[in-house]
Amino acid sequence: MDESVITHAEGLPAYRLPPCVQNLLRFLYPTINWRTVAFFNDIPWWLEVTGWDANAITLPDTFTNQIYVFFNSKKLARPSASHTELVYPNDLNALCRPGQSTHLVATLIHECVHVLQFQQADSSSIPLGYLRPSTTDYLKCWACHGFVYDDQLPHEKEAYDQERQFTACASSLGLDNAVWCCVPQPSAADPLKHFMTSACGQALVKMQSVRTQCCDNALAGLGSSILAAGVGVLVTAAKIVLILVTPIVEFFSDLFNSTEDDKVRDDIRSASGSNLAARSDADLIDMVQKLFDGPTGDDDENAVLRLLSCLPCPRVATLVGSFGVQNFLDEFQGAEYGHLQLLLLNCGVLSLSSLDDNGVCALVKAAGCAGISGASVSVLHGLFLQLLSGYTDDEDEQTINAMMGCLSATTIRTVLRMNGTRWDDFDSAIQGDEWDDFVDVMKAKGIPEP
Ligand SMILES: [Zn+2]
Repeated sequence: MDESVITHAEGLPAYRLPPCVQNLLRFLYPTINWRTVAFFNDIPWWLEVTGWDANAITLPDTFTNQIYVFFNSKKLARPSASHTELVYPNDLNALCRPGQSTHLVATLIHECVHVLQFQQADSSSIPLGYLRPSTTDYLKCWACHGFVYDDQLPHEKEAYDQERQFTACASSLGLDNAVWCCVPQPSAADPLKHFMTSACGQALVKMQSVRTQCCDNALAGLGSSILAAGVGVLVTAAKIVLILVTPIVEFFSDLFNSTEDDKVRDDIRSASGSNLAARSDADLIDMVQKLFDGPTGDDDENAVLRLLSCLPCPRVATLVGSFGVQNFLDEFQGAEYGHLQLLLLNCGVLSLSSLDDNGVCALVKAAGCAGISGASVSVLHGLFLQLLSGYTDDEDEQTINAMMGCLSATTIRTVLRMNGTRWDDFDSAIQGDEWDDFVDVMKAKGIPEP
């Protein structure tokens, strides 16, 4: 949540929930203190080691009063009976994917019941690792439930009831995640308000205070306290071991990774274009994967750019597609990012419609003259059209002039003969000083005002 002060835990970066999902959670759980709650898109390493494999889990921190909600992204990435429609929630942004079902949001709502259970139970005590009223409560309930984990386990029953009521309410109102996530729909009524004012939405807002108690069995109480303390000691000990071992493991894996990177980079640099193009897709994917493993530096990025520039467009599409266009773009920064965007635009892997005016300006700035002068005329034409369409502000005008300054007179003349990018189109869009600059740039290229 916005207010969370936790940025990292268990070696994982905290995830910022989309604002509309935050608002939904604030509405459903008005008493949760979000400053001590954080959301993660992966599970802690020590949980992974145990083979645990549910959708998500809520756990207290070992040392503080913080509460962590972990999404099991690997499990969620696999389609299953309960969420066949899930394409790939590589991150919780999938919450916002148009057409996404309410599955992920419902899971989040389930986990937040556990957050509330933790906070309520621990509110009047100082947590000591896992030795705290909340974990003791949960384990006691588990013991009294015959050590069976199912949706009838009291803590889980509360969470599942809430989850089911939410799903039923959302679907009766015709709301899906895309709507929750404020995908711009100017005509639609505010979906959150619609939900909050509905009868079923109102019925859901009851989760303000919950302290789930189970059987009053003294033995179970003592046993679960010991068990909770035991879990705390084990996790703490394992963490200490990890803290000691990690730097050694990282040292060797970096050593290995950088030699692999070096080999691939040298290979791409020294091989001829036709040699690179003759290799199989699987080989190329493997090479790029090696460059992307670990931190991706400018050298790695430039090697990938050289490789892509040696391939015909269908193979560029295959290679980039095997990583996912967005994942591929995410590996690049600065000038290399601009060059990659142009290269993908040239090949039609990236569509111009995915860039708004700001995107075009950033791309031109990043790619610089070297990138712009290497772009195809049809891509240049598309970029100009994007900048000229709608309202053309000062930055758009300066970007147009900067692009013109990078292009040859021949290319400019070709562009000026194309629909939507004729002299008059520039004249009617560009105003004031920028228009004077435009005319000057053209004059310098030997192209007079018609
Ligand atoms: Zn649960």
